[in-house]
Amino acid sequence: MKRSIVQALDQPLRRLRKAIGVRVRSLGSRIALLYVVLLAVVTTATLIAAGSGVNTFAYETAERELAANSRVFDQIIASRQRQMADAGEVVAHDFGFREALATGDAPTLVSALQSLRDRAKVSEVAIVQLDGSVISSNMATTVKGTAMLSRLENGANRGVIRVGQAQALGAAVPIEMPDLAGWLVLLNTLGPADMAQLSGLSAAPIEARVIERAQLDGHLASLQLGQIAEMEGRDGPRLVRVSAIPSLEDGNEPRLVMAHSLNSVLARYFSLRLVLMLIGLFGLLAGAWAAVRLSREIARPLQLLAEAARAYAGGAVAKVKVEGAMEVRSLASSFNAMVDAVEEREQQIMHASLHDALTGLPNRRFFIEKLDRAVARQSGSHRTLVAFIDLDDFKAINDAMGHPFGDGLLRIVGQTLQERFPNAMVARLGGDEFGLLLEGIEPATDCTALARTLETLLNRELTIDGRSIAVSASIGIAIGPQDAGSSDSLLKCSDLALLRARNEGKGACHFFEPELDAEASRRRHLEIDLRRAIRDGDFELYFQPLFSISENRIKGFEALMRWPHKEHGMIGPATFIPIAEETGLIVQLGEWALRDACRQAAQWPEDISVAVNISPRQLMTDGLAPCIAQALAQSGLSASRLELEITESVFIGNVDKTLKLLHSLQALGVRVALDDFGTGYSSLSYLRSFPFNKIKIDQSFVRALEEGGSAHAIVRAITTLADALGMETLAEGVETQALMDILRHEGCDMIQGYLIGRPVPGEQVQRLLPSQQKTVSLS
Ligand code: C2E
Ligand code: MG
Ligand code: MG
Repeated sequence: MKRSIVQALDQPLRRLRKAIGVRVRSLGSRIALLYVVLLAVVTTATLIAAGSGVNTFAYETAERELAANSRVFDQIIASRQRQMADAGEVVAHDFGFREALATGDAPTLVSALQSLRDRAKVSEVAIVQLDGSVISSNMATTVKGTAMLSRLENGANRGVIRVGQAQALGAAVPIEMPDLAGWLVLLNTLGPADMAQLSGLSAAPIEARVIERAQLDGHLASLQLGQIAEMEGRDGPRLVRVSAIPSLEDGNEPRLVMAHSLNSVLARYFSLRLVLMLIGLFGLLAGAWAAVRLSREIARPLQLLAEAARAYAGGAVAKVKVEGAMEVRSLASSFNAMVDAVEEREQQIMHASLHDALTGLPNRRFFIEKLDRAVARQSGSHRTLVAFIDLDDFKAINDAMGHPFGDGLLRIVGQTLQERFPNAMVARLGGDEFGLLLEGIEPATDCTALARTLETLLNRELTIDGRSIAVSASIGIAIGPQDAGSSDSLLKCSDLALLRARNEGKGACHFFEPELDAEASRRRHLEIDLRRAIRDGDFELYFQPLFSISENRIKGFEALMRWPHKEHGMIGPATFIPIAEETGLIVQLGEWALRDACRQAAQWPEDISVAVNISPRQLMTDGLAPCIAQALAQSGLSASRLELEITESVFIGNVDKTLKLLHSLQALGVRVALDDFGTGYSSLSYLRSFPFNKIKIDQSFVRALEEGGSAHAIVRAITTLADALGMETLAEGVETQALMDILRHEGCDMIQGYLIGRPVPGEQVQRLLPSQQKTVSLS
């Protein structure tokens, strides 16, 4: 309903706006205008209805008054006629008068009539004799006795009589002496003045006149007698009623025309109309005021809300006051609640984007942001220290103890660092890498002591969920501005220091030195050279004999890569293999080594095998098995003569996948040896999980044999276990006869080392073989 009214008013409103040239843009103005117009329409309609009601009421009142007054008029006329008749009665019975009439004493009669006229206050008194002759009080009488005769004879005694052009009220009294001698007729003219006098006797201002029927003008003549009709008069609309009055004359049909001015009735209600108008105007003004207030109450909070939303979109924390009507308060509260919720969520997102979920520490991004700011402020007296911390063997710990344990370890390390260095920013930069940022370090502060604190803090036994573990960490430290003036360089310096610390072994801490930078640059150059060398095929394979103690002969050779560099001479694998591992070039390089080793070994006697080192990176690629199969097929070397040397590090990560792969390699018919045994973590468990063909005991154990101690027992344990598992054992780095003796005594099957021979180029292998009988003292 409301909607349809609004729609209906929309078009007129638009026209109105156009007409008054006002552009109503705001909601408040629209509501106010709409309600004012609505109110004006309603008020006008009410006033019109009330006005029409008043008009109808006035009309009916006029009608009633007219009807009532015509009765009153009749009564007044009747009463006047009675008065006239009464006055006439007295004279008609007067003896002197009758005598004068009987004697025809005209002067006496006229005198009596004049006296009666004056006494009765009528306009004329006349005697109508039986023959129709008239004796009148007035000299120039126009009374026609003959015209009255028939009516008078029939007993009519009241009625209107024509007097000249006018009509007069007449009352007749018979004159009996004792026989009827005539009639005494009293006349009172009904001219405008007389009628006005009569009208003055009625309650309402009603205009009355008596005219002959023939004189009624067109519209009046058409009216039925007694009917009330509205007609236009000189003073505006009027109600008119025409009624018949008895006549005392033949040929005279007098009509009483009564008119009642409607304006005069309406004038009585003028004050009522005025009051109604004033009430309407007051109502309109009050309504307009209320509409403006209401629209403000609605529109103002909306405007405030819009302003707050704009401010909020602009980044300010904008809230609105909770006040006003219930709905507005609820809207304001909801808006404020929304602002709070978005704020909280933003903070959460911000926190999540800058923090590590596991430890709750700042993440790398946050760390770098903070470092940027710290470096921008740093100076000789306000130094910045960045420490890169890397947990040693974290992957192995994770594998061995389980991921929940690893997570716990990371949390404890983070917490410990934070507690010990409350003024520093401790961040988790990656898997097992932490960063420590200390700014504003004064020149007097001893950074070495700080490094020592870090070392002791991170190299100790920790207990997590009741399980203890010896933890160690490598730490690289750089200090700005002495080491670097930008955050990037400072980070790089601490990274290089960490690299050095890692190379130094577990639990080491290293400060950045300019040489590290030089080393890094050397490494970069080497990497470039390495790529070129791989492309140009600059590598060579050297072969080192693998000697069987029991058979006292060389049973095979281990292929060891060499890089004859044009500038730096022969480069050993210890230098370039780590770079190749890091860059992934090892995959290409390893494939070449496999093919070339197979190709050369195929030229050797049938009972001589070849061992090829396989990097963990190579094992991770899917192409290893096909590559081996291809190398064997292309060279014609039987699979049983190829031995793959893998290190324990391949088990870090997905053990199941590695085992599956090793089984698939073994299924090709090749042998699998575990290289550098004893340098990694839980070595013995790997021995149980895969049927290695050979275990190569690391040089470090072998050397330790010369020093006595527990090494004997360890080597013995390994050989015994390997024996039990059906695996061969080979000791690496055997340089002396004495060592070989010990190894033989400890049950080792084979040896490799300078004692038997150093790695030699491929073409020299053949030369070593005929001298199988090379004397190696077994005693
Ligand atoms: P590895 O597989 O344990 O090889 C044995 C290393 O011990 C060789 O060093 C060898 O020269 C050295 N060696 C042998 N006997 C003695 C000895 O009596 N005394 C001493 N001091 N050292 C001895 P090399 O050739 O420098 O190789 C180092 C490592 O580089 C290898 O250790 C192997 O892990 C890796 N490597 C070599 N060639 C390749 C390759 O083609 N592919 C892969 N992935 N790694 C390779
Ligand atoms: Mg090896
Ligand atoms: Mg080895």
